[in-house]
Amino acid sequence: MFDTLSGKLGEVFDRLRRRGSLSEADVTEALREIRLALLDADVALPVVKDFIATVKEKAVGAEVLRSVSPGQMVVKIVNDALVEALGGAVVPVNLLAPSPIPILMVGLQGSGKTTTSGKLALRLRTRERKKVLLASLDTQRPAAQLQLEQLAQRAEVASLPIIAGQTPLQIAQRAMDVARREVFDVVILDTAGRLSIDAALMEEVKSIRFAVNPVETLLVVDAMTGQDAVTTATAFNQALGITGIVMTRLDGDARGGAALSMRAVTGAPIKLAGTGEKLDALDEFNPERIAGRILGMGDIVGLVERAAQNIDQAEAEKLAKRMAKGKFDLDDYASQLKQISKMGSLSGILGMLPGVGKIKKQIEDANLDTTMFKRQAAIISSMTKAERRNPDLLKASRKKRVAAGSGTSVQEVNKLLKQFDDMSTMMKRMNKAGGQEAMMRQMQ
Ligand code: GDP
Repeated sequence: MFDTLSGKLGEVFDRLRRRGSLSEADVTEALREIRLALLDADVALPVVKDFIATVKEKAVGAEVLRSVSPGQMVVKIVNDALVEALGGAVVPVNLLAPSPIPILMVGLQGSGKTTTSGKLALRLRTRERKKVLLASLDTQRPAAQLQLEQLAQRAEVASLPIIAGQTPLQIAQRAMDVARREVFDVVILDTAGRLSIDAALMEEVKSIRFAVNPVETLLVVDAMTGQDAVTTATAFNQALGITGIVMTRLDGDARGGAALSMRAVTGAPIKLAGTGEKLDALDEFNPERIAGRILGMGDIVGLVERAAQNIDQAEAEKLAKRMAKGKFDLDDYASQLKQISKMGSLSGILGMLPGVGKIKKQIEDANLDTTMFKRQAAIISSMTKAERRNPDLLKASRKKRVAAGSGTSVQEVNKLLKQFDDMSTMMKRMNKAGGQEAMMRQMQ
């Protein structure tokens, strides 16, 4: 699922991220490609249009954080738009009603409705500790009732005894009576599916809904059917007013358009996702996680979020100015280290701080974590003001003093000085090559 879309968006962003600064033409071109990728993934046209308009508006208005590249910023904006299209937040199955809670399962034949009823029963029993009763209202296919009975056994929940000759409505009412009498928390009613939407099916479900007043009317749709899934959902929603959608076969190779269009077109939240044939292959539908899977750039998204939260903008600007002027001393280096430590995780963060790009590799090679930054910060704070301004003062005896004062070794002091030296040299070279702009570009 989502593989092609994911691949295409990946290409767009790879290109964007190679640029230090983005012109309007770059963004327009990227948006054009994102638009094509979404259409190709079978996302409904109005949804694509809205999506692109949102991204464009945000990208134009965005204040690009100094510490992240414009390309990274666009990734974050697209990510947020994807999360929004997928419905924003997780919407759980509503269990906040007096018991027994009736849940009506509706959908076309073959959508995975019966399997999902069994999966949901298992999930509610194991995760929510609910006492669940499963009942099949499918009188069209006797096999369907047996199928649900077997699923109930596997899920270790009760199923309503089958009585031949009852109408779906009678079965529904009997299920609710049994549930009240035997104190069940939840009753899952699996209705009959049809090959296509027809008026008789809708009327039948409507009468059941009227009789049992379900807390949830969950529509089960097959993600593999693409735009048809959206059409089905629209029809069911208009006729019945569904409260949520379960999308099955998200483990398949569907292009993803249905998942991305569903919320916008129907207004109903996707609550659950079927991800396989096994009984435990039912997950909550988590827009953030799915957007993350589509973009495959969770690290960048997290990076921009952390940068926005933690990086002190004024401090970063002050540093950049000092760098541009070729004035960068160990105090500035320490201030960078402090910002890095504040952010916690190291992966990917280094590259976004001006000037740290070059040492990033050395640090990665050494496979060090934030404790190294804390040690380095301790080394710098053991130096005198004069030494921090002018590290050349640090000869052997002073190094010994600093190492002892910071609880480190002369070797570590030397390593820090070497890194600082590398950085200063690189900055001077870049300043000569054309000032801050050029430097920033080279560091991306
Ligand atoms: P119903 O006619 O809507 O009740 O459909 P069924 O529940 O009988 O499911 C039809 C087929 O789809 C069965 O073989 C299920 O195992 C399969 N199925 C249901 N949900 C999923 C899913 O999320 N992923 C996969 N791969 N198969 C599923």
